[in-house]
Amino acid sequence: MPDRRLPTPPPTPGLLECPGELRYFDSPPTTAVLVVREFTAAARWKRAVLAWIGCWGAAVAAVFLPVLHFVLVPTLLFAAPFAARRMFAQRRVLLSVRGRCPACAAALDTTLPGGDPRVQPVRCDACGRSLELHPDTSLLAAGPAPEKHEGPRPQA
Ligand SMILES: [Zn+2]
Repeated sequence: MPDRRLPTPPPTPGLLECPGELRYFDSPPTTAVLVVREFTAAARWKRAVLAWIGCWGAAVAAVFLPVLHFVLVPTLLFAAPFAARRMFAQRRVLLSVRGRCPACAAALDTTLPGGDPRVQPVRCDACGRSLELHPDTSLLAAGPAPEKHEGPRPQA
């Protein structure tokens, strides 16, 4: 008898699934699966450039806003390098969490707006409680070694 199960789709490049825990005060923690997007160096540069262009584009658009342009234009021009630096520094973004709520035991499959996987609050759709997400730090730390900007090595 032929196997009628659908084949498992190939993993999407750049997407990682990491284990983690959901915690809520004294309730016993539950296991969770975190879907994380990992950016290559080229993708991080692209995001940084887009953030810079976005800030300066918004500054150009803000020129036409009466009164507000006195504040918005210099703020957006000044904020562009900081936004670009933040985008470049972001190596991984948390996309979604699957698991079970530790407080009400409801199944949880939440899509998140994206952000640092280490500091994401997760809200249970069933009970509305704010849960603590604790990703497995060893898996989140895996991957390409972080780039270090060091000065010249001392001669031995
Ligand atoms: Zn819940």
